[in-house]
Amino acid sequence: MLRLHEIKLALDHDPADLERAVIARLGIRPEELVEFHIFRQAVDARKKGAIHLVYSVDAAVKNEQRFLSRRKSPAIVAAPDLAYQVVTPGREKLQQPPLVIGSGPAGLFAALLLARQGYRPLVLERGKPVEERYLDVERFWSAGKLEAESNLHFGEGGAGTFSDGKLTTLIHDSRCRKVLEEFVLAGAPAEILYLNKPHLGSDRLPAIISRIRQTITALGGEVRFHSRVDDLLIKDKKMSAVVVAGQGSLEAAAVILAPGNSARDTFAMLLERGVTLQAKPFSLGLRIEHPQSLIDQAQYGAAAGHPRLGPADYKMFFHAPGGRSAYTFCMCPGGLVVGVATEEDGLPTNGMSLFARAGANANSALLVGVTPVDFGSDHPLAGMEFQRTWERKAFALGGSNYFAPVQLTGDFLADRPSAALGNIQPTYRPGWRLAQLRDCLPGYVTETLRLALPLFEKRLPGFARADAILTGVETRSSSPVRIVRNDDFESNIQGLYPAGEGAGYAGGIMSSAVDGLRAAEALIRKYACP
Ligand SMILES: Cc1cc2nc3c(=O)[nH]c(=O)nc-3n(C[C@H](O)[C@H](O)[C@H](O)COP(=O)(O)OP(=O)(O)OC[C@H]3O[C@@H](n4cnc5c(N)ncnc54)[C@H](O)[C@@H]3O)c2cc1C
Repeated sequence: MLRLHEIKLALDHDPADLERAVIARLGIRPEELVEFHIFRQAVDARKKGAIHLVYSVDAAVKNEQRFLSRRKSPAIVAAPDLAYQVVTPGREKLQQPPLVIGSGPAGLFAALLLARQGYRPLVLERGKPVEERYLDVERFWSAGKLEAESNLHFGEGGAGTFSDGKLTTLIHDSRCRKVLEEFVLAGAPAEILYLNKPHLGSDRLPAIISRIRQTITALGGEVRFHSRVDDLLIKDKKMSAVVVAGQGSLEAAAVILAPGNSARDTFAMLLERGVTLQAKPFSLGLRIEHPQSLIDQAQYGAAAGHPRLGPADYKMFFHAPGGRSAYTFCMCPGGLVVGVATEEDGLPTNGMSLFARAGANANSALLVGVTPVDFGSDHPLAGMEFQRTWERKAFALGGSNYFAPVQLTGDFLADRPSAALGNIQPTYRPGWRLAQLRDCLPGYVTETLRLALPLFEKRLPGFARADAILTGVETRSSSPVRIVRNDDFESNIQGLYPAGEGAGYAGGIMSSAVDGLRAAEALIRKYACP
């Protein structure tokens, strides 16, 4: 196969135009083209008056070797082999199947790989299967009733289950392809393999996740719900067993630990058991909501609403003079702002979308980086306590019933309370209450956001419009803790493999899934199948 980069076509191009462009780029006769498929499709909207689709295409031609030796061009190369490289198992025999704690992207993909290589993993998940979890999440949205073990963070699929399902990532790891392929095998649309910014949506994710679970069990693995790991039994600095709440202990010499960024009780238990943890930087801020039409117009101009474009997104960054940075994060086109509480008296927020991204509002986190210096203590869990402090303030500001505190952007900038909403309705459920959001943020976060918003307005007109909705408080953008691991992916406890976002080595669905694969590979490299 040959890979052709940078084939630019107008937004309204005909499907046959791509084939013609491929033939023209290759400089061959039509009958010499055997087949082709899109490898990557992106939107180039830098010039609003001339928005293009940009394709990379894989093409097969007759006499490929001869063709390559004749045609030397950086825009035509041999397509690299993207097949997943299976690792060779080690020799140390496991007496029991490996355990995987957590069924978020990291745990799920670790378990899937272990299952595919015959290790019959046992996944322990504190929450419920996705179908039951969905009902608990609905109850939270409709009645503000929080289930401590079944919510937007805990349960099958982890934090990514109710999300926009964005599959974009900043990591460059060939395993990303493996993750996308597994999602497609589990029923995700094939377009995720080539779209530059693929996403799955909260309406499609549950079925995809439960199909991955079915594959794990069909391959001899097991997924146990309602199984919170409450303790580790460690002998001579080696994993010996885990204790599951209400179920006793399970022997395990090899454990992948993928608890996500919100398992605060689990972090505390790990620390008590002597597992090395470190506080790490994360970010804190608010969600902002606009009409999606405003974002589409700002990004695409007259082409806004074109069916080939879909709802627009954005990403902006600002360095404040004092050294702080603010940025937009996890933008959800046509989405909803959601509460992602896991504790009785705290209210963190996040965003999600359905696959169609057809909601009236766009939302995104508006974050400022914080570091251990801000936490006021050098305790490894100080960042977690710091998060808790601001989540509790937001909870109280909303009325202590999981209503979210909300303020208009104009009022936040002018430091005055909002009296009424403007033309934008908050999407947050079960409800909201007008509040001064500076009361649930550290002063330097408020100040940095007040500097950033006017700058973002310049880049995306309307971004800081007076009635844009701000909702508090966004604290769980990444883990406040790192579970330290060595080059072989083991913690200071032999046989304990921390993975994913909660372990501090990933952020987002793709990088967490990839990290799960890497942890599973490390385990496979060391141990033979039980
Ligand atoms: C609302 C929302 C929207 C998001 N949108 C996106 C997006 O569009 N794109 C993106 O890339 N990222 C998104 N994210 C972030 C993404 O979901 C996370 O980065 C990712 O899920 C982290 O994967 P993980 O496997 O490391 O942890 P998690 O997904 O958090 O999974 C951890 C799992 O471990 C379980 N667990 C915890 N402790 C224990 C224990 N002691 N015993 C047993 N089980 C335990 C939990 O119940 C959970 O199921 C979103 C997050 C949220 C909350």
